[in-house]
Amino acid sequence: MTDQVKELVSKCLQARDKAYCPYSRFPVGAAVLTADGAIITGCNVENASYGLTVCAERTAIQRAVVEGHTQFSAIAVTCDIKDRFVGPCGACRQVLMEVRRCL
Ligand SMILES: [Zn+2]
Repeated sequence: MTDQVKELVSKCLQARDKAYCPYSRFPVGAAVLTADGAIITGCNVENASYGLTVCAERTAIQRAVVEGHTQFSAIAVTCDIKDRFVGPCGACRQVLMEVRRCL
């Protein structure tokens, strides 16, 4: 694992610790690596109105875009499930495809 990937994973884990998830109790962290080497993080932010909940992946992408980053090299996503993988939800997959194609 390169130092850059280690940093990406480390920041992803730090972001997970900031998750606001009183309803699911399922903290998720994400970190995107931009083409110019910046790392932007996100966490899930839940709401009592489920449709207003934002996943960690989308939070990271939205923060990155606001900060002027439009090219991405990698994304790390983490949760609390040990020894198992969890994939992004359909909404996040759609957003990830959009930034991959359009930005
Ligand atoms: Zn999602």
